Amino acid sequence: MIKKDTPAEEVVKLGYCDKENSCAQCNQGCMQGSGCFTEAQLPIVAKFLKSSEENFKKVWLEPVTRFNTTLLRPKIKRSKGRQHGQCVFFDEKGGCMIHEVKPMECMISNHNEYGEALHLWFTLNYFVNPTDPQSIREWATYIESGGPVIPGGSLSELVPNQKTLKKIMEYKILR
Ligand code: SF4
Repeated sequence: MIKKDTPAEEVVKLGYCDKENSCAQCNQGCMQGSGCFTEAQLPIVAKFLKSSEENFKKVWLEPVTRFNTTLLRPKIKRSKGRQHGQCVFFDEKGGCMIHEVKPMECMISNHNEYGEALHLWFTLNYFVNPTDPQSIREWATYIESGGPVIPGGSLSELVPNQKTLKKIMEYKILR
């Protein structure tokens, strides 16, 4: 079972798809958006592209904010007024052009039986920030609206001190 604290190496193995076998659903995902890099990946990918990190960020990446945390992902080619579009690294003939170093969120995006848990693992480890009250409040709203959770992702696990959690939810702790 995938939990919030399942090690990244294990999660990457469960989400792994080799380029040759990437399914139509994955390609569809690359044509509709892109996945997020972790901070630690940025210098590695910049090196892979023979670019400085600063230039890599400026030319290829855009910010995305979820649960009050901002990460970077490959830019998306959007037609005017549209929110979705093709990832800049997607080639219709060759697939992902940065497959070897693709974003962690892409690495673990898989349409197998672990797909939903893998997505939640990424969200809990890289977007939901237990030290940020606003992030916790947004996660609480997600749970209240019926969003699925994996072990380690309940509010009481993220903020074990019940008094602190109550204050966060009552906006008595703002930041
Ligand atoms: S980085 Fe690669 S895998 Fe991720 S969305 Fe872009 S083309 Fe697809």
